[in-house]
Amino acid sequence: MKFLKLLLLFTVISFNLNAQNNSKLKNNQQENITYAIRNVNIIPMTKENKVIEKATVLIKENKIHSINKPIPKNATIIDGKDKWLIPGLIDMHVHTLADGSPFVIYPTKGPLVSFNTQYNLTPYIANGVTTVFDLGARPEHFGQRNEIIRGDVIGPRMALAKVIGGKKSNPTAKNPFDGRNAVRSAKEEGYEFIKVYTWLNEETFKAVIDEAKKQNMKVVGHIPIAFKGKQAKDFFVPHFSLIAHAEELSKQTDDFSYEKAQEYARLAKDNDTWLIPNLTNMLSISQQAKSVQSLKNLQGFKYVHPLIQSKWLTSNGYYGASEKLIEYYKKLYDFHILIVKAFKEAGVPMVAGTDAGISGIIWGFSLHSELKLLVDAGLTNEEALASATRLSAEWLEIDSKIGTIETGKFADLILLEENPLDNISNTQKISGVFVNGKWIDRSKIDIMLSDVEKWNNANKERYDWKELLNSLKN
Ligand SMILES: [Zn+2]
Repeated sequence: MKFLKLLLLFTVISFNLNAQNNSKLKNNQQENITYAIRNVNIIPMTKENKVIEKATVLIKENKIHSINKPIPKNATIIDGKDKWLIPGLIDMHVHTLADGSPFVIYPTKGPLVSFNTQYNLTPYIANGVTTVFDLGARPEHFGQRNEIIRGDVIGPRMALAKVIGGKKSNPTAKNPFDGRNAVRSAKEEGYEFIKVYTWLNEETFKAVIDEAKKQNMKVVGHIPIAFKGKQAKDFFVPHFSLIAHAEELSKQTDDFSYEKAQEYARLAKDNDTWLIPNLTNMLSISQQAKSVQSLKNLQGFKYVHPLIQSKWLTSNGYYGASEKLIEYYKKLYDFHILIVKAFKEAGVPMVAGTDAGISGIIWGFSLHSELKLLVDAGLTNEEALASATRLSAEWLEIDSKIGTIETGKFADLILLEENPLDNISNTQKISGVFVNGKWIDRSKIDIMLSDVEKWNNANKERYDWKELLNSLKN
């Protein structure tokens, strides 16, 4: 019962098999097809994670119907020979692009920029990201979720967290009373999670967390700047159960020793606080500080909306940092690595999240970079995979539905050309993706991506971030 709305997404999707639409991308009829992946090596990502070789997986009505049972006559066969099947990936920290304005203005003014939802979501699907946790969710994201449920677009499952305590966010919550009200409103509005943010004061931070607990909403987020210089035990509180970036910890201290990382890990363990290391973002910040042109070389850059490309290239907040600041970023990144090692040593679960949507972090593509960096930081390939599958589903409390390959779970799956347990980069060798039982093979993925690219190229001239900001001044 805990996350009724999120679970509702699963339920509703399964009742929406016949939704009609005209786009060449979509063919919901397909969901009535029974699929049999034959001869495939299953990496189930259960705790035991015993690989099942040369197996048959039957997918029926958006679920994993059976493993190694007879194939019905009417089944559509997918050849899995020498291929590997993993659960669909979960990105635990995203900011999905949605209709809106460059900064907070009166909501009644309506969005200044509108986007094609499918183009926003295609990079997730193309990368096998079948669930995302939006840590800056707005009403527009409920709209996107409804578009997915209706079958108008193909997209990931979306868990939505409401931000409390941002500088210009609504509500800002300056005191515990406002903080508690903000949590209750978020609950009423249908958000499943609360994200605490940087500008909360100490008492309001604690009141928000306490109220969220009463409202049965889990809390993810930042560690408010108000705690800087205080003892770490002050900001580790029970029910603040997921830290949005390792940076939240590194910014609280000037002591970048392994002992400090171990202290954080111990406190996290005691309070059942999990961590999103978010290494991609920190590394990207230090690269952008030196050069923005390198962004153009990022995998997937051409699929980023031209307005956002323009923003990242012409109004990049990180670019041009002093040598001293660049040196500081490097220290932070090195400390991030120590934090990952210490959390692993202490047995604190870590879940993969990218901050996709933030300058230089591309939806879908960045999760594969994060997995690679987690392995470089000391996780095994299997631990990295678990961070983006089973463990993320556990934190979201939807592990009975997704996150592993087991009979009865929803068919969110990635078919890979090579074994990711041998090399984590093999998560990128995608031969096809099942999204809620819908099979999207490589050729369809390529069509979806090229649609985005073509549109971006054709509309490049229409979007200029600085011009948009100037137009708002008038
Ligand atoms: Zn974020």
